[in-house]
Amino acid sequence: MRRRTFCAAGFTALATATFTHRRVFGAGSAELGAVGLDGRQLTLSAADVADLRAALRGEVLTAGDTDYDDARRLWNGAFNRKPALIARCAGAADVMHAVGFASAHGVLTSVRGGGHSLSGQSVCDGGLEIDLSQMRSVHVDPARKLARAEPGVLLGQFDREAQAFGLATTAGTASDTGLAGLTLGGGMGRIGQKYGLTIDNLIGAEVVTADCKLLRASADENPDLYWAVRGGGGNFGVVTSFEYRLHEVGPMLYGGDIWFPFSGARQLLRSFVDYIASAPDELYVNVDIDVSEKDPPDVSFNVCYCGSPADGERVLAPLRRLGKPAGDKLGPATYVKLQGAADPVKPFPYGGYFKGGLARALSPALIDVVVDYVEATPFPSGFGEINFQPCSGAAGRVAPEATAFWNRHASYNMGVYALWKVPGDGAERDTAWTRAAWEQLEPFTEGYYVNLGESDAHAHRVQAAYGGNYPRLAALKKRYDPANLFRLNANIKPA
Ligand SMILES: Cc1cc2nc3c(=O)[nH]c(=O)nc-3n(C[C@H](O)[C@H](O)[C@H](O)COP(=O)(O)OP(=O)(O)OC[C@H]3O[C@@H](n4cnc5c(N)ncnc54)[C@H](O)[C@@H]3O)c2cc1C
Repeated sequence: MRRRTFCAAGFTALATATFTHRRVFGAGSAELGAVGLDGRQLTLSAADVADLRAALRGEVLTAGDTDYDDARRLWNGAFNRKPALIARCAGAADVMHAVGFASAHGVLTSVRGGGHSLSGQSVCDGGLEIDLSQMRSVHVDPARKLARAEPGVLLGQFDREAQAFGLATTAGTASDTGLAGLTLGGGMGRIGQKYGLTIDNLIGAEVVTADCKLLRASADENPDLYWAVRGGGGNFGVVTSFEYRLHEVGPMLYGGDIWFPFSGARQLLRSFVDYIASAPDELYVNVDIDVSEKDPPDVSFNVCYCGSPADGERVLAPLRRLGKPAGDKLGPATYVKLQGAADPVKPFPYGGYFKGGLARALSPALIDVVVDYVEATPFPSGFGEINFQPCSGAAGRVAPEATAFWNRHASYNMGVYALWKVPGDGAERDTAWTRAAWEQLEPFTEGYYVNLGESDAHAHRVQAAYGGNYPRLAALKKRYDPANLFRLNANIKPA
């Protein structure tokens, strides 16, 4: 077995040697067809695959292996992609080997953290999936209020570790979402109005770049890379470790759901906008027009008040009076409970189609379009919603150039979501409903959030997501990934 070193330069030479000189391990295995970066067919010899298998501390899975289907399954059941190879990495060294293999062979490569990609891009047909889901350690330093997490960690796992010390940082709203993908695209969540996006709390990362180097990215080391990974998605390499700043949160907060009949939606939403305009940063209210087929539509507010329960109850009293609630489940709750409250029932047997963009305001004209559309266009099947997730407050006070995340002016990340049963015949109908809604809503957007990238996203959306930061990102992409190995994402072209 050839020696491996994790010294970057040494590793590059080694990876090339390991993956270009054929040696036979696992005699009797067959060669493997794969898809190349440019879409051409490749043949990987049995020796190449065996070399990779021998190099990893984790596993290399191919079709037929016990864990193969589990490792390629995504939250979004609309995708059923079959990679030629899955490198189930156990640590940074495995990631370096997998990236070395991908570079040496020019194999189409996807990177999977928590598997919640809405666009399904973390798993690829015919290529190499770098699966980080087994890398799940979290280390909290309560004295310094810092946490380090590996890229397979899910939000609920992270929250539990940090909350054991009464600490938290901004993360998303569904506890089975992966911390890695969420962080790299930005990260909006229930304490984001007070503490900013997840990337605003990211103080360092370790990144395996396309040339197989393991680089530390922070304000002091590789600051350009540090800037780029804060919002630039998976474009710059595979992140093997994230370091976050934590804040004292809870554990007891105030929040939950309150919902109102759709019949009064127009006035309710206008009154809500007036109410929220003077609300403190502690308050997060996600607005959801729920149009699922089995119930009449309603307007639901998912709430988190990031302060004492007594203050939360007082601040939320006017929200309760905006109309006659159809249901009111607001009350004192732990942060961990609030974070898990929106979780779907598992296993999640649905496919989904999504459209999203950033809105500067929930203006009267936008409210009219939403209400008119829902009134006129019954949702066909499954679950549907038009959602407004707040992303202002502290997140909006960061300069657009300070991180790769450009669109800091937005108040809401507006999304249209449809979920249908898989197997089932809802896909076409639900997708058509979503697209028709989006045709009317998109004119109210200014830029996009890459983590809500849909499967048919176009290059202009990536440009609009990065705005004035795009040229710097394209130059950094050329420096760190000139061959665009990491292309299955909201892709920034090297320039
Ligand atoms: C139910 C649900 C709720 C959501 N709620 C929120 C929310 O409240 N706030 C919010 O901001 N977003 C939310 N999202 C969107 C979420 O941020 C993205 O789907 C995100 O990509 C999920 O990360 P993941 O690691 O689970 O995804 P994956 O599918 O594993 O990865 C997605 C992409 O991230 C990149 N990536 C992942 N890990 C790495 C890594 N270690 N190194 C380099 N690149 C990597 C790859 O390009 C990959 O294609 C939600 C999504 C779902 C499905």
